[in-house]
Amino acid sequence: MELRKDPITQSWVIQEDSDFGWPSFSDCPLCPGHERLCLPNIYEYPYRSPNWQVRVIPHLRPLYRIEGDAQRRSEGLYDKMRTLGAHEVVIEHPDHNLALSQQSDENVAQVLRAFASRVGDLKRDRRFRYITVFRNQGALAGQDLEHPHSQITATPFIPRRVGYELRSAQRYYQLKERCLFCDILQQEMAQKVRTVEWDDLFLTFCPFASRVPYETWVLPLHHHASFEEDVTSWDQQLRLGRCLKSILRRLESVAPAYHLVLHTSPNLSAKFEKADNWQTVKEDYHWHFEILPVIPSKSKSYSLKEVYYNSLLPEVAAEELRKVAVAA
Ligand SMILES: [Zn+2]
Ligand SMILES: [Zn+2]
Ligand SMILES: [Zn+2]
Repeated sequence: MELRKDPITQSWVIQEDSDFGWPSFSDCPLCPGHERLCLPNIYEYPYRSPNWQVRVIPHLRPLYRIEGDAQRRSEGLYDKMRTLGAHEVVIEHPDHNLALSQQSDENVAQVLRAFASRVGDLKRDRRFRYITVFRNQGALAGQDLEHPHSQITATPFIPRRVGYELRSAQRYYQLKERCLFCDILQQEMAQKVRTVEWDDLFLTFCPFASRVPYETWVLPLHHHASFEEDVTSWDQQLRLGRCLKSILRRLESVAPAYHLVLHTSPNLSAKFEKADNWQTVKEDYHWHFEILPVIPSKSKSYSLKEVYYNSLLPEVAAEELRKVAVAA
């Protein structure tokens, strides 16, 4: 496996010369009692208890490898490097059949605490420029193991979409001396046509230019660039857990398969990062979750034309999601 850079769009692509496929397990390797099928825990709660609630392990078939350095090389004008990085699995609950949205508030808060702890820890490795936390639910969204889990990757580059966001937020800040996301929040709270729910800490809404039907973002109402530095208290983890559970339940009633991704600030102490690259990131960027449901019948494939086609207005999607009854 190696990483190759598209010289035109600047995005990195993982290239593999064969598909090794999954190791086959007759038992679910993420279930309690099967820990021997996995590498040792990187994180666990409660600590050293056989009755774990949440644990984090190295991925069974990692896309990125933790050892060594990136070995950046050229081939004429082309750039390539090793698939250096980290790839971890967050096992969200011991119960094989309990989806995240059905778990207790305390458990979801523990999952968020594991996210914050792992992102913070991986950012201490100066070889990594960006840490991504994501979750694929349902076969349509490419969920590979049935057991409820999320994934974390650390990469020596900033993924393209986050790169766009960071540069765009930076430009907006230079021009207006305000955070773009805070401005979006204010407008959404004033208009209240795309908002789904909110409290005094977090807002859930369908973005103005939603890429897919029922696309939903969750943002803190207060400004903060880094999830892992912001969501550190148990109270905040619990509150965000409740908010996330509620929107997932609403979404699952219309679209059971989805991608969820956390967007947080990049690693500011990464080795090759120029010091002035992200000078204003703490003021100009604002962490958030993006949830992209997968409904093939209501959207057209993005891959070829690279233009999203969404047949459901976000204003209609938000209204529908607001009406879903969510049991506490
Ligand atoms: Zn399992
Ligand atoms: Zn902000
Ligand atoms: Zn984003």
